[in-house]
Amino acid sequence: MSETSLSKIMDVSLTRSCNYDCSYCNQRQDLDKPMFDMSESKRKIVSNKRRTGAEWIAGLNAFPYRADYDKLIFSGGEPSLHADFVDIVTQVKGWRVKVIVTNLSFDVEKLIAACRKEKTRVIVQPSYHFEFADFAEFSGKLDKLRAAGLLSNFIPASIVHLPDRDDGQKSRDQFKLRGYNAALYRFEGYYKGKFSYAPLDGFGGIKETKEVFYSSCVQPVKPNGDIVYCTTDTYSETAQAYGNICDQKFEAIPREIKIQNYGNRHISAASWTRARDTASGEIIWQGKNFRHRTPMNQFRTFLEIKNYSWLALAKSTVNALQNKLKSKAAVNQTNID
Ligand code: SF4
Repeated sequence: MSETSLSKIMDVSLTRSCNYDCSYCNQRQDLDKPMFDMSESKRKIVSNKRRTGAEWIAGLNAFPYRADYDKLIFSGGEPSLHADFVDIVTQVKGWRVKVIVTNLSFDVEKLIAACRKEKTRVIVQPSYHFEFADFAEFSGKLDKLRAAGLLSNFIPASIVHLPDRDDGQKSRDQFKLRGYNAALYRFEGYYKGKFSYAPLDGFGGIKETKEVFYSSCVQPVKPNGDIVYCTTDTYSETAQAYGNICDQKFEAIPREIKIQNYGNRHISAASWTRARDTASGEIIWQGKNFRHRTPMNQFRTFLEIKNYSWLALAKSTVNALQNKLKSKAAVNQTNID
């Protein structure tokens, strides 16, 4: 029997550049090292050849399979560094929901005004990067976005929790005092020579080369418009592209492919992928975000689109509950309560 269709996301990286240089940036990928080994790597920019705003707007508006995707994400690097950022995010239309993943260093008033002018809505999902961001400025922007109905109520602000630092928790407390339920995420992978979360020789360990069936719920789009299969492929020079958004060439993307470099694939809280044994078909790995279009997930998408104001509280309550019920030994990707 065939599986229910996948809950799909398109993640457009407008640029790989960033105005910050966070020590824990997960774009310090080096595919010759185990995934998420950020100890010595520099931010890895494979190719940063960018397209113009007009090319993105025409390409994304002409994409014929929009209905297959639950959401369209604009990310980076820092997406707002693209010269036509505001035009792109407000003039692309016809997707279920548009989300911006950003460090919030841009002028939010320009975005709010452009959304009004274009009669469109885009949900802003900011991350607070305590090594670079200014709390007063950042939270002031949250206020403006919230008042305009553009701030994500699912994740009003996300913060990373590093194993050796308490900045994440401290920032989260500051947000609480300002009336925001910021989400604190565990850092997963290698950090300063220490490994947490993923199996060393399994998913994310470079030594593992067995053949597996592999599928991904996210289709990343590189700054040059190439559509690739999964997040790992965005860090590779040679990954196969399934068409190009800006050239308006669209190719069928297989639901599942066979890969040999299993150990070299992306693992993280944001893992949208699944690997299965080629002989038995059994699941070897499945990331939290690998989802089918079940009624439950369709409901989640619906809530995300509606962006109800009570979502932030509901989400943090569910997280707290999940963490309570979780066994002590479990290493998973739930937020920290
Ligand atoms: S803001 Fe994001 S993309 Fe930029 S350096 Fe920090 S973690 Fe990396």
